[in-house]
Amino acid sequence: VAKLFKKETADVIKKLLFLGMMATINQEIDTDAIELLGGEYNIEVEVRAPRDEEAEDMLVEEEDPSILVNRPPVVTIMGHVDHGKTTLLDAIRETKVTATEAGGITQHIGAYQVEINNRKITFLDTPGHAAFTTMRARGAQVTDITILVVAADDGVMPQTVEAINHAKAANVPIIVAVNKIDKPDANLDRIKQELTEHGLVAEEWGGETIFVPISALKKQGIEELLEMILLVSEMAELRANPDGRPRGTIIEAQLDKARGPAATVLVQNGTLKVGDIVVAGMTYGRVRAMVNDRGRRVKEAGPSAPVEIIGLSDVPHAGDQFVVYDDERKARALTEKRSNKLRAAEMGAQTRVTLDDLYKQIQEGQVKDLNVILKADVQGSVEALRGALEKIDIAGVRVRVIHQGVGAITESDIILATASNGIVLGFNVRPEPNAGKMAESEKVDVRLYRVIYTAIEELEAAMKGMLDPEY
Ligand code: GDP
Repeated sequence: VAKLFKKETADVIKKLLFLGMMATINQEIDTDAIELLGGEYNIEVEVRAPRDEEAEDMLVEEEDPSILVNRPPVVTIMGHVDHGKTTLLDAIRETKVTATEAGGITQHIGAYQVEINNRKITFLDTPGHAAFTTMRARGAQVTDITILVVAADDGVMPQTVEAINHAKAANVPIIVAVNKIDKPDANLDRIKQELTEHGLVAEEWGGETIFVPISALKKQGIEELLEMILLVSEMAELRANPDGRPRGTIIEAQLDKARGPAATVLVQNGTLKVGDIVVAGMTYGRVRAMVNDRGRRVKEAGPSAPVEIIGLSDVPHAGDQFVVYDDERKARALTEKRSNKLRAAEMGAQTRVTLDDLYKQIQEGQVKDLNVILKADVQGSVEALRGALEKIDIAGVRVRVIHQGVGAITESDIILATASNGIVLGFNVRPEPNAGKMAESEKVDVRLYRVIYTAIEELEAAMKGMLDPEY
């Protein structure tokens, strides 16, 4: 694409990043992405080739609005640690499930459904925004409503703010459950005041956010909270076609010793039935059995229903989307095509540039410029380091600073390094915990320095093949 557009590859990759696509130099991008890029560069793009069959299959078909019916909302509970998320999930389950069904045993399958006023609500059973974001990173949007739990005796904490930002980024409405109101030092108004600063203004204060005071421990306010969920879901007009092509998202999956791969899926459209051929991420199979959240065997599951399915050939990932095929051969072919693509991507990842084998990669012609993402504690250091780095020229290989900034090394720095096959240099800064983990899994070389001179020296040594290996 870069050649076609007569642009620098790194520039195209950067543009893609700004468009929200994590692309690497040897990755296929679809025609939609190329059209978007064309828009960015003011180049007219005409797509002539037939579109990818796989992409077509994953495309959510436009359903005729007249056949759509209401579906239950899917709710995720988020909030700071110890504010009562797990207690709330248990309280809802106990008040609504065990009580109404004589001897009903709830089974942990990663999600459960409750009924109130003859209407259902689906809860995802993994509290916290980690699961939420992992799924979103895989392109899955399953949550319709977020319950933000804030302890009335503790107030807005860092993870509260993170949860708000995650929900906002996903455009998911938030209901605030002010928990632990049974405590003597609980202060509802203080919570409302604190959340105002994060854009959540209570209805009674002229805003649009619903606040429900609850005690998850004493099971107070649970009914009110559920009613508010129904109210918000009505406004959101959540609809699906129970007769459409079944599709949805993997919520959880593991290998069961006796039954083989078991996956909890959330059906988002259509009705999933025993016997259906399902493709999920890199795996496929015929649904042999389905179990609902009450541990009962069921024959079918409609929109917003969580069920555990048995019959996939392998364990899919949480966040993978599934879709039903009527042809087993086609399902297998698609799965194979996907794993080939993944293998190709992994091969790409293995040739990622690192200082330790930079010299070898230069010799082999794999690296022509060393792409660097530069982070430092103050702007002055950024400028000084950049100036010094860009003076390096060893046997025609130069250092190119493709991004620079002040502050800790973030996930987006790592993404950029992955996408442009570069390394990250930190000067008096450290990676944020998530960025550190990501760098490890993506095999991005992150180097931290305190002295500019050391950084320059090490880079030069690496380019000449004279760097002492790190142990
Ligand atoms: P999580 O980390 O957000 O899942 O929080 P937990 O549900 O594990 O709750 C943390 C602690 O707060 C536990 O000791 C709970 O018993 C307690 N807790 C949760 N809800 C309430 C409540 O409504 N009132 C009181 N007093 N304690 C609660």
